[in-house]
Amino acid sequence: MGEPQERIENGYEKFQELQKIWSKLHVDNMWKDECPKCFGDGEVLVNPEGDDYSTKPCTCCGGDGQIAHMGNF
Ligand SMILES: [Zn+2]
Repeated sequence: MGEPQERIENGYEKFQELQKIWSKLHVDNMWKDECPKCFGDGEVLVNPEGDDYSTKPCTCCGGDGQIAHMGNF
């Protein structure tokens, strides 16, 4: 029984990649909230009232889909 990363081909590289993704999700973004305006999409309808379903980058979150949690004002 070896370590998990030794049991699959290129395991070390794959785990490194997973760790990067994990870090991005859980460290960099754990203090951010899903954007309430675009619901995490990063895009909003140009004209929500009309039949035009084209989208533009969300100005609330800058297209990230996540915003910094600023607390309650
Ligand atoms: Zn947004």
